[in-house]
Amino acid sequence: MPTVYDLTREQLTDRVVAWGEPAFRAKQIWWQLWKRAATYEQMSDVSPTLRERLATDLPLGVEVVDERTADRGATRKGLLRLGGSHLIETVLMGYRDRVTVCVSSQVGCAMGCGFCATGQMGLESNLTAGEIAAQVVWARREAARLPDSTPQRLTNVVFMGMGEPMANYRPVRDAIARLMDPSGMRLGARHITVSTVGLVPGIGRLGRDHPQVGLAVSLHAADDALRNQLVPPNELYPLAELEAAIAAWRDRTRRRPSIEWAMIDGVNDSDEQAGKLASIAYRLRAHVNLIPLNPTPGSPSRPSGSRRIESFVRVLESGRVNVTVRDTRGRRIDAACGQLRLEHANPPV
Ligand code: SAH
Ligand code: SF4
Repeated sequence: MPTVYDLTREQLTDRVVAWGEPAFRAKQIWWQLWKRAATYEQMSDVSPTLRERLATDLPLGVEVVDERTADRGATRKGLLRLGGSHLIETVLMGYRDRVTVCVSSQVGCAMGCGFCATGQMGLESNLTAGEIAAQVVWARREAARLPDSTPQRLTNVVFMGMGEPMANYRPVRDAIARLMDPSGMRLGARHITVSTVGLVPGIGRLGRDHPQVGLAVSLHAADDALRNQLVPPNELYPLAELEAAIAAWRDRTRRRPSIEWAMIDGVNDSDEQAGKLASIAYRLRAHVNLIPLNPTPGSPSRPSGSRRIESFVRVLESGRVNVTVRDTRGRRIDAACGQLRLEHANPPV
């Protein structure tokens, strides 16, 4: 079932006008849906009859099934039912200077990275543009409930939830356009980042369609033998090809790419891997984010220890590479990568 967020502004206007309402009414509704993140009940300037008709014919299609908080309320996770059927999770993270929502592009994922909870589920379905954008609407509303240690306003969107954005490219592209619409949410492209496992054609398309949107590539290994094991799509798009695609993206967009690297104990955390990564990142002038692995039920892998991480960082820094060790936000509420969803699929007995 499509949600109202799947409609363009013109489509919404056509529907509302067909019901005998003036066009400005559609403008009011659009603005409230996107800018105020309002539900139909909250639209006090819309008549009760019209609100009822909207709710029946053009449902919002976002139902909050479960919410959890961590980090004294600064991390908030929603389990949302979208379009009446798709169950996905969305995480809102408040920092001192920004508020970021991590959105899902698919239910599950077909890419098969063994260390990833979403990958362990396989692909259940794609999300529509409206279902993707509706998560950001939820986040905009939820941001008002953040503690005052952080801004209480959504500032950034990252496509790092469930799914591989480049494997559901068009809906992702359209959702981004919807988020940037000046008559609606008006998010700046520079505050949106798409994370990909490295599907080369998608990187090219994103650079053409949304040249201001940021790119993060999940590398996790700096030679093909190891990367083939960790990230199966590497067999299709090996490192040399991927690096060329990132370089082309950087040349076109003039933006600095990010490289994501989950630190997995004894697997990809050696100084040797760090050295190879340093060469790649230096050539691409990329920023490297190291994320200690979040253990998942379906994999024996463990996060690297802090000594190992420090040594890895030293190798990168001596290769003149910018590197950040990311915090493990929301680990207590399994806010990373599809874990809440898994819990609901297999409730504890
Ligand atoms: N499919 C896309 C985006 C979603 S995953 C991608 O792979 O980039 C978002 C990020 O979480 C990716 O960098 C991914 O590699 C990382 N990730 C997945 N499972 C993880 C885990 N168990 N611990 C830490 N990071 C993980
Ligand atoms: Fe899919 Fe990304 Fe998880 Fe790999 S890491 S299985 S691409 S969501």
